[in-house]
Amino acid sequence: MKLIAGLALAASVVPFAGAQTLTVDHLTQSQLIEKARDLDERAKGPDGASSKLNEYPNHFTMIALRHQDGRAEVHENYADVFFVVQGSAKLLTGGTVQDGNTVSPGEIRGKSVLNGVETTLNQGDIVHIPATVPHQILPQGGSFLYFVIKVKEK
Ligand SMILES: [Zn+2]
Repeated sequence: MKLIAGLALAASVVPFAGAQTLTVDHLTQSQLIEKARDLDERAKGPDGASSKLNEYPNHFTMIALRHQDGRAEVHENYADVFFVVQGSAKLLTGGTVQDGNTVSPGEIRGKSVLNGVETTLNQGDIVHIPATVPHQILPQGGSFLYFVIKVKEK
C-alpha cells in the first residue's frame, strides 16, 4: 500500500515533465484547409509556403502548401512527420543531395535528391522521415497540402 501511495504521489508531482502547457489542440480538416488559404500566393516558389501552428517542448507543428517541385532538404536535427491533407506527391528519400548548401544551422537545401527511393503520397497518408535523411517533394497534378510535425531528434 505504501508503495502505491508513493507512486501516486510521484505521478501527481510530475504529471508531464517538461510540458509547456496542458492545452489540447484540435484542428479539423476544414480548419487546416482554411489556414492554407493564406499560404496560396507564397506557395508558388520551390520552397512552397508553410505556417507554424503550435510549439511544444520537443516538436512543433506546421501546415505546408506546395504548387511546384520542392528542393532537396536535409534537417540535421529534426525528423519530419507529414500527414497529407489534400493532393498527392512523389516523395524522394535517401540518396544524395545535388548542389547542397547549408542555408541555416542544421538545414541543408539542394537542387534535387539523386538516387532516392520514390514513394507516392496520397491524401490521408502519413510519412516519417528521420533527421539527416535527404528528401524532396514533387507535387503531382496540382497543389499538395500537408500537415507537418517537426520532431527534435538531436
Ligand atoms: Zn523536410
